[in-house]
Amino acid sequence: MSEHQVDVAIVGAGPAGLYAATYCGFRGLSMVGMDSLTEPGGQITALYPEKEIHDVAGFPAVTGRELVRQCMKQASAHEPTFLLGHVAEGFTRHDDGTFTLTTDQDAVIDTRAVIIAVGLGRFTPRRLPGTEAYEGRGLDYLVHDLDTMRDEDLLVVGGGDSAVDWALTFEPIARSVTLIHRRDAFRAHEGPLARLMESSVEVLTSTEVAEVHGEDGIEAVEVVDNRTDERRVLKITRILAALGFHANLGPVADWPINLEGRQLPVNRRMETDVPGVFAAGDITIYDGKLKLVSVSFGEAVVAANHVAAYLDPSVRAFPGYSNA
Ligand SMILES: Cc1cc2nc3c(=O)[nH]c(=O)nc-3n(C[C@H](O)[C@H](O)[C@H](O)COP(=O)(O)OP(=O)(O)OC[C@H]3O[C@@H](n4cnc5c(N)ncnc54)[C@H](O)[C@@H]3O)c2cc1C
Repeated sequence: MSEHQVDVAIVGAGPAGLYAATYCGFRGLSMVGMDSLTEPGGQITALYPEKEIHDVAGFPAVTGRELVRQCMKQASAHEPTFLLGHVAEGFTRHDDGTFTLTTDQDAVIDTRAVIIAVGLGRFTPRRLPGTEAYEGRGLDYLVHDLDTMRDEDLLVVGGGDSAVDWALTFEPIARSVTLIHRRDAFRAHEGPLARLMESSVEVLTSTEVAEVHGEDGIEAVEVVDNRTDERRVLKITRILAALGFHANLGPVADWPINLEGRQLPVNRRMETDVPGVFAAGDITIYDGKLKLVSVSFGEAVVAANHVAAYLDPSVRAFPGYSNA
């Protein structure tokens, strides 16, 4: 169990949450951020880490992964605490206007304000059927620490950008990398796919996991070619399943805050109908709303600066300009 007393809790570490953390830092606010994923970056990390993004100011072209890395670097100047792999569940507003948030990992956050930046909602990975017993014992859906795959015989399962990206990422770290995809064609971008085909990664298409073997962990994986039913046993010690994610608003939908469908209506200060609760990013709705990274950044700036003015009415919302 961890306990935190902060000025502001930021729920969600996608682009909106990360930039809100940066701006809370500029404003001298203490903060804790949390995300149900074990990596920061929200939709970018979960859905398109290798896609080139062309519409973020200052970056003519940047991969999703690199943009998230830069956002983290910018936020880290203020030494924020991010609780990764924590789903924000409990939400209580006390009579004095402060809040207590709790997470499914038993973190308790007492805070004076909240910024909700949960985007499309909580991502849960699409599970690899029949492998539940190996979750946390060699089967992963996201990787926070690249070193966990060092010297492992890794099987990556999936056919999208994430699967290809992970296979390439671990090629120089793992002892061996095999990538299997149940279809005969990949959905990944051409550049990374071409690099994959030139790499030492063994690529098996039209192939699925039939059975995982191992007592304490994974020792081998039996795969089946779904065109011929031919089976093969691969020496594998870790599986990384990159099969995509379901998004679901989850516990936030039950918090006592006015929702419009799956969105939070906000005013021009990015404030919800609950004093002290602000929102930014894809979760917000107002006339003219656009769901884009750059809009999420802008909303995070507005939310964080109005949090500063809300917590101390003697300070202005306008932050002044950044200086070295
Ligand atoms: C395939 C695709 C391509 C895109 N391409 C572009 C593009 O080129 N340019 C562009 O500008 N935009 C693009 N977008 C849109 C862009 O990704 C979103 O606008 C942006 O990610 C929104 O950021 P966010 O921080 O509001 O939400 P998200 O990125 O959704 O992050 C929200 C985070 O909150 C977390 N969360 C949710 N509920 C909880 C909870 N209860 N507890 C803890 N954590 C929680 C989630 O795990 C998630 O990490 C694209 C979107 C998709 C799907």
